[in-house]
Formats: sequence, structure tokens, C-alpha cells
Amino acid sequence: MHGRIIYCLCWTTRKREAHCKCCSCGNGIIDPMSAVIALDIGGTHLRAAQYEPGNPEPIAHERVLTRANEPGAYDRLQALIRSVWPKRGTVLAIGAGSPGPLDPRLGIILKTPNIPEWLDFPLVHRLSTEFGVPAFLDNDGNTAALGEWKFGAARGHHDVLYITLGTGIGAGVIVDDRLMRGFHGLAAELGHIIVDPDGPPCNCGFRGHVESFCSGPAIVRYVLEELSKGINSSLKAEQQPSARTIAEAAVQGDALAISAYRRAGEYLGIAVASYLHAFDPSIVVFGGGISSVGPLLFDPFHASLKQRVFHPRYLEGLKIEKAALGDDAGLLGALALAQISMQV
Ligand SMILES: [Zn+2]
Repeated sequence: MHGRIIYCLCWTTRKREAHCKCCSCGNGIIDPMSAVIALDIGGTHLRAAQYEPGNPEPIAHERVLTRANEPGAYDRLQALIRSVWPKRGTVLAIGAGSPGPLDPRLGIILKTPNIPEWLDFPLVHRLSTEFGVPAFLDNDGNTAALGEWKFGAARGHHDVLYITLGTGIGAGVIVDDRLMRGFHGLAAELGHIIVDPDGPPCNCGFRGHVESFCSGPAIVRYVLEELSKGINSSLKAEQQPSARTIAEAAVQGDALAISAYRRAGEYLGIAVASYLHAFDPSIVVFGGGISSVGPLLFDPFHASLKQRVFHPRYLEGLKIEKAALGDDAGLLGALALAQISMQV
């Protein structure tokens, strides 16, 4: 299939045109061997893949350890990109997803927990000048939402809410077929919605955000607090329970483990009711490791959500689905970002 697409691209307007009549820049190209490079800047791995636009099957795909606290992350990324760069043909664009906060319009990573040396790091400028192609950046919640919308569980929907439940809570919102970025490009940090002003501290430093109830570390912290009060459980603090071992204990009937997920599900329902009021999506897609525990979390979630929407109309026809892209969500989201930005 690679090489099927023939078109002309104007580098000035970044628009695809049949015969380069989009402007008089003279830079239009016609290339049957066009590709997009997608980057997923993760905490454990840096990943890069080469795709044909519109085709979610990668032509080449490589990964290296991020080694977050060692210098030279950009050099590692650069070498990785070269390893998937096509031997012949044209690269149309590089799309990249990274944890934020970041400025997608300026292409600057303001700060990322994955790579501490990248402070106000001009990733898009570096990539576009060094590789000679347009580059695009967005936060990994937004790119995952784009990926699920273009290639995954939310295909065909126009109003999409994507939520990932893991070590934190990430999100992306698509309204009327457009990714919602906001004035500063800082939308949509839905993990940091206040569900209890007096609630536990959140990773961000504030209190009572939904992330401080529903993320993996939040579930573990709740269990440890209850154990320290002497609550009877098969879980033991000295065995350092994880979100996964707590889920396993819950399946075995451990009351504390069940209550930890019930509490998370209830608060998730409170938060999602507010999201429905704000965005009125036709589908909510859940990704991330915590969402894979199933009914333990989602039974109390559904009950809580139903109780808290202020009109049942919000729930009519609403689909609540598991993310479909798994490990590849970051790469496919970065591909979708490049495609949307280039209109290819
Ligand atoms: Zn927070």
C-alpha cells in the first residue's frame, strides 16, 4: 500500500492540493512515497514509527529506553527518528505526543516529568530544522484522544471524551470534530477537576482533584491509610501493594480492596458527570491500566454517574467504551496529530 498516495503539498500553507495551486510558493511536491514519522515520548520508552498517511499499520517501528534522568534525551530521540526514516521518498511531517504541560502552538515542552532536562524545550523547532520537515506536538492525553478518534474506539463520533487512568489521569476532548486545545493550549487537564475541596493532595500540589482519588497511586495510598488504622485485610503494608495486587485481592473478595476501587469508581462518576455537563460527548473512551480492572471500578462508576447527571438526556445513546489502541495509542495519536495538522 505504501506509495499509493500521490499529491502535492504546499509548505507555506501546509495544505494538500492536487496540483500545487494553493499558492505561488513554488515549493509544492508530488511524491508517491510519502510518509509520516510519529513519536511517543513516554516515561519508560521513546518510540518512533514510520507510517503511510491514513494507514495505522507502521512501515517501521523502533523504541529505546527513555533513561529520563540521564542527559542526552534529545540525541537518543534523534537517533531513533533516523532509524525509522524512509530510505527513499518524502517525509511529510513529524507528529509527537508527550506528557505536558506543553505549548502545542509554539511547540515547546514547558516541563515534563519524563525528561527533567527538557525545561522550556523547543522540540518542534529542533525537529523541524534538523529534519527539514514540519513538526507538530501535543500532550499525550490529546494525542491519544486523536488516535482513538481516527483509528480506535471513537471512530465515526464527532464529540469524544477520552480519559486515561494510570499513574495519573490524562484526557482529551473532541468537540464537533475538533480537538479542544483552549486559549493557552493547556486543555483538557480533566484529572485536575476538584471533586472534594478537602480531599487528599494531588500530584500537582493541590487538593481533592479526581486524580487524587482514582489514579493508581491514589488507590494504593487509600489502602495504606486504611491498613495503618488497623483495618483487617489480606493486603499487608509491608508487601507494598500495587493497584494491580489490590485489584487481585478485590477479585478474591477482600473487603478493603473492593472498597478502594468502589471509592475510586464513585469519584470517577462524580467527575464524569461534570464532564458530560460541560462537553455532552456521544462517547467516553477509557484507556490506561486502571481502566482494565473492569466491573470493580465501572459498576460503582456507572451507579455514581447515573445519580449525578442533572438530566437523563445526557446518558441517552452515550457510549462508554474501552480504548482500542492499547500500547500504540501514543504513536497512532501522533500520526493523527500530524495528519490533522497537515490536512493529509
Ligand atoms: Zn491535581
